[in-house]
Amino acid sequence: MGSSYVVIGDGIAGSSAAETLREQDPDADIRVLTDEGEPLYNRILIKEFAKGKLPEAPIAIHEEDWYEERDIELSLNTHVTAVDVEDRVVLTHEGEEIPYDDLLVATGGTPGQLPVENSDADGIYHFWTFQDARGIRQRAEQADTGVIIGAGLLGIDLAAICGAHEVSAHYLMRGECWWRYAMSPDGAEIIHNAMRELDVTPVFGCNTERFEVDDNGQVVATIDDEGNRYDSEFVGIAIGLNFNTEFLQKADIELDDGIVVDEYMRTSNPHVYAAGDITRFYDVLLGDYTQNGAWGSAKSQGQVAAENMAAAEPTTEFRWVTSYSITHFDFPFLSFGHPTEGDRYIERRYSDTEWRRIAIRDGRVVGGVLIGDLAPQNTLKRLIRQETIVDGHEEELLSESVHEESIAPAIEG
Ligand SMILES: Cc1cc2nc3c(=O)[nH]c(=O)nc-3n(C[C@H](O)[C@H](O)[C@H](O)COP(=O)(O)OP(=O)(O)OC[C@H]3O[C@@H](n4cnc5c(N)ncnc54)[C@H](O)[C@@H]3O)c2cc1C
Repeated sequence: MGSSYVVIGDGIAGSSAAETLREQDPDADIRVLTDEGEPLYNRILIKEFAKGKLPEAPIAIHEEDWYEERDIELSLNTHVTAVDVEDRVVLTHEGEEIPYDDLLVATGGTPGQLPVENSDADGIYHFWTFQDARGIRQRAEQADTGVIIGAGLLGIDLAAICGAHEVSAHYLMRGECWWRYAMSPDGAEIIHNAMRELDVTPVFGCNTERFEVDDNGQVVATIDDEGNRYDSEFVGIAIGLNFNTEFLQKADIELDDGIVVDEYMRTSNPHVYAAGDITRFYDVLLGDYTQNGAWGSAKSQGQVAAENMAAAEPTTEFRWVTSYSITHFDFPFLSFGHPTEGDRYIERRYSDTEWRRIAIRDGRVVGGVLIGDLAPQNTLKRLIRQETIVDGHEEELLSESVHEESIAPAIEG
C-alpha cells in the first residue's frame, strides 16, 4: 500500500482509478497528470458533438473542482516524458520530477497516421480527442465531399458524421467488407446499406496512395493505388491506435503492443500498474492475454487497478465482458466480448437488418456481434462469464430467442 500515487492519463481509466484510490486511501497524496488541456470528458460522446447533435457542455464529465473536492492534484497540459522505475520518479516535459510509491499508467493510444503523400494536409483528421471533434465538426459543416479511411468501429463514426452534415462521401476499405476481422460480408452488408442511405458509398479492395492538395495546402482529393480519384474536402482517417508507451522505453517494464499486465492490472514491476486501452491484460475468462478498446472496460480496469494498488496484496481480479454499441442507424449494433478471438464462428442472418455472429473458442462463447436484435446479449454474456461449454448447441445459439436453459440448465441468473 503506497501513500503517494501518481496517475498518468485523465481518461476514464485514469480518472476512475484516482477516484477509487481516494475512496480506498483517504490520506494518500494523489496526483493526476494529463497532456490534454481539459479534465475528463466523455470520449464516447464526442462523435455526437461532431455530428452537431450535442453542444459542448454535456460532453464534460469533471470540472477542475471535482479534483479539488477530493484533494486530488490535477496537472493539465503535462506530458510525461520518462519514468525511472528504480528511483520511482516520473519526469515531465517541463523537467519536473514527481516521486511516487505506486504508479498507474493509463495513457491509451494515439491514432495511427497514414504513411502517404500529403497525409498532413489541412482537412485531414484523425479522431481521438475533443479537440479533434471540434475540428471535424467545423470542417464537415463546410465540406460537400469526403473520404473515410479505416474499416473499423471508429470509421463508422466518421461515416455518420459525414451523413449528419450532408457530406457526400466514399468509404475506402482495403478488404471485401467493413470490419472484416469480426464480420462476414453477409452481416457487413447491413452496415454497407445503412452507409449508402447516408450518402456514404463503400469502396472495397481499395488502398490509398496519396492526397491531392490545393495551393493553400487544403486537401481536395484522395487517390487510390489504381489511380481512382475521389473528391474530398474532408478526410477522416481511423486506421488504429499506436499505444502511448514511448516514455517507458527505458523503464524495465514488459511491453507488447501495449503494457502487459496480469489479471490484477499489475505490470512486470510491482509498483507500476496500468489500466484502460493501453493494457494487454490477462483475461481470466478467455484464458489468454488480450486487449479491449472500450469505455466500460477502461473504467472497470481503472477501478480494479486502484483497489489493488491500495491493498497490501492485489486480490481484485478484472473479470469483465466488454461491449461496444453503435447507435447511428435505425437498427442497433453491439459487439461484445472478443468477437475476433474465436477458433470458429457461427452466424445467421434473420432479415435485412438482423444478423448474429458468435465467436467460439475451446468450446466456449468468447464474443460476437449482434445486429438488429440485441435481446440475446444478456444470455450470451452470461455464457461467457460462466465459461459454459456450448459444443453441440450451435442451433440454440442461433435460434431467434436464445434459451439458456436448453444450453446450460445449471446456469444461475
Ligand atoms: C470517437 C470515439 C468514439 C468511441 N466510441 C466508443 C463507444 O461507443 N463505446 C465504447 O465502449 N468505446 C468507445 N470509444 C473508445 C473509448 O473511448 C476508449 O476505449 C476509452 O476512452 C479508453 O480510455 P483510456 O482512459 O484507457 O484512454 P484515453 O481515453 O485515451 O485516455 C488516455 C489519456 O492519457 C493522455 N496521455 C497519453 N500519453 C500521455 C503522456 N505521455 N503524458 C500525459 N498524458 C498522456 C491522453 O492525452 C489521454 O487524455 C470511442 C473512442 C473514440 C475516440
